[in-house]
Amino acid sequence: MVNIPKGTKDVLPDESYKWHYVEKVVRDVADKYNAKEIRTPTFEHTELFLRGVGDTTDIVNKEMYTFTDKGDRSITLKPEGTAGVARAFIENGLKNSAMPLKMYYITPVFRYERPQAGRLREHHQFGVEFYGSSSADTDAEVILLAYDILTALNLKVKLNINSMGCPKCRAEYNKALREFFADKKDRLCETCLTRLEKNPLRILDCKVDTCKETVKDAPKITDFLCDDCREHFEKLKKLLTAAGLEYTVNPLIVRGLDYYTRTVFEFVTDSLGSQGTVCGGGRYDNLIGQLGGGDTPGVGFGMGLERVLMLMEATGVEIPKENSVDIYFATMGEKAYEKAFALSSALRRKGVKCEIDHMERSVKAQFKYSDKIGAKYVATIGDNELEKGEVALKKMSDGSLETVSLDGFVERF
Ligand SMILES: [Zn+2]
Ligand SMILES: [Zn+2]
Repeated sequence: MVNIPKGTKDVLPDESYKWHYVEKVVRDVADKYNAKEIRTPTFEHTELFLRGVGDTTDIVNKEMYTFTDKGDRSITLKPEGTAGVARAFIENGLKNSAMPLKMYYITPVFRYERPQAGRLREHHQFGVEFYGSSSADTDAEVILLAYDILTALNLKVKLNINSMGCPKCRAEYNKALREFFADKKDRLCETCLTRLEKNPLRILDCKVDTCKETVKDAPKITDFLCDDCREHFEKLKKLLTAAGLEYTVNPLIVRGLDYYTRTVFEFVTDSLGSQGTVCGGGRYDNLIGQLGGGDTPGVGFGMGLERVLMLMEATGVEIPKENSVDIYFATMGEKAYEKAFALSSALRRKGVKCEIDHMERSVKAQFKYSDKIGAKYVATIGDNELEKGEVALKKMSDGSLETVSLDGFVERF
């Protein structure tokens, strides 16, 4: 017997309704914001992610699912959703469409990492990408979209926001960080010492305790914003407040990649033990340019769906089950079965959810089964009923009985 690959998971028939529910909420809310779905391939040329995700990040260094295909091309299963959307935007000339272009996706993403609790090699992500507007109102809308989804799913989350400024203010900030850490190198981990050279910003989100402690007194990026970036951040805060959304400014949330600009945000929860991020996003005005598509601002976020489901489970959020069977046909004898089979086909075409025995069960066992699947009605047909041209219809919620003519049965529903 062949087992499931490490770090992957089956969604079994009895639990797929949870996925359908979350996906429906996600699609419905995205639609309210006039976002349209974009679907891009599961794999791309490795180069896209090297250019789009940046080569100093952990993802690219260690975690990409990369292989050489039979045509000797380096192919990578997408580690995140943004790069593929950006590639599709450029390749299909979407720059010429009416702006802003509001897109969303639901996609599997792949990371080759040690499978620990909740860390899968294949997981699923919902994401949003709004292209074409550099205005802070778009950032606010993207944040609200994420918030509306999490709220619709009954999750309690807190919003943290920050501004990373533009390359201009960030250059100043990086200089200040280097100066600050210069005499504290002994308190930084090995990785952060490299970061100090290459990308000091990334020290801010190091998970190592001594680094975390040292970072507390580091200069804050919000004190280094240029006038334009400051104005952008103030407008964002104003609009979030206008929409009734509470937030905390957390100057420690940053993204290590150069194409990120201005707004960064995350929704966090403490419902999974330690505090964890449910959704993270931000503005990336320089991504499309970096991929060769010219100047196009963008803002978006990604949300891990397994994590969302885990959180719903942990906090006892009830997920409504999908509709059960409307009518179960219990039959006795071959003739009755044929009649019921025809009726069930006709009713299904009318949109009624039907089920009929496929296991040659006894009538008693059929009743038991109808109960198990939660059928709303049981229609019984035997020789007696055939002779009279009738069906005995039982409503399971109250046990009431009704006699319906065979000829008029389909019309009854
Ligand atoms: Zn700036
Ligand atoms: Zn560190």
